[in-house]
Amino acid sequence: MLDKVSTNKMPREIAPGVFWIGDCLAQRHKGKVYHGYNAAFLVAGDDASILVETGHPKDFPVIERHLSELFARGVAPLKYLFVTHQETPHCGGLGRILKTFPDAILVGDVSDYHLAFPQYEHRMRWMNEGDEIELGGRTLMAVEPVIRDLRTTWWGFDTRERVLFPGDGFAYSHYHEDGHCGLVAEEAVSLDLPDVSSTFADLALFWTKFADMNVYCDRLDHLIERLGVKTIAPTHGLPITDVKATVPKVQAGLKAAALMPETGTNEKVAVTGTA
Ligand SMILES: [Zn+2]
Ligand SMILES: [Zn+2]
Repeated sequence: MLDKVSTNKMPREIAPGVFWIGDCLAQRHKGKVYHGYNAAFLVAGDDASILVETGHPKDFPVIERHLSELFARGVAPLKYLFVTHQETPHCGGLGRILKTFPDAILVGDVSDYHLAFPQYEHRMRWMNEGDEIELGGRTLMAVEPVIRDLRTTWWGFDTRERVLFPGDGFAYSHYHEDGHCGLVAEEAVSLDLPDVSSTFADLALFWTKFADMNVYCDRLDHLIERLGVKTIAPTHGLPITDVKATVPKVQAGLKAAALMPETGTNEKVAVTGTA
């Protein structure tokens, strides 16, 4: 089973007390099989843990298993759930998390979740930029979402280890065949980051075709500098542990994708005509 290989490496601690969990999703594009993560991250404080993203609905059994492994190891109990935005690969397990962890409170942009889950309305708390959730010895802060696909997005930031959770920012696929699953970006040496970043932007972030991505990349540099980001934990990419070396490669992909015409989101199947 392909997925066994990737999930066996998880949970992976990418910074002290920050655990990468979840699974890959295989997608076909231009005859290649790309793997993308729909990752979730657990940030553990002394008193409480926060789950960042829920993973894709198909991954809930994996996410749940990874979480119970961590809690069995003595990681602080789950008190908060932060989702970057309302899209299935980011929040598709929200109801199940709130049901499984009755003490957990949903934080971030919570618009409309009370309509989908009226039974949990009293467990939803708004965050605005700069707001922090206290976990004991560290906080999770809502920060400016520079690259996003929905206006309601917030990015998260762990103030102790300076880990940025950029949701759809730094999104790129990886190659299962090359053994990239479960590796951080710097370990996946055969991964052409500008190429896979531009492919992802082409498929998932259409607006990058109509914007000057130099402006967005400059803003990203400014945010990274201002926060002193040491690690980047994207939902769909591999975690970045060498910000100075790796971020420019992802930015090169964003800038290249912006200059190419959009290819569309669905693989075209060749139809042999009978008429
Ligand atoms: Zn996404
Ligand atoms: Zn994979």
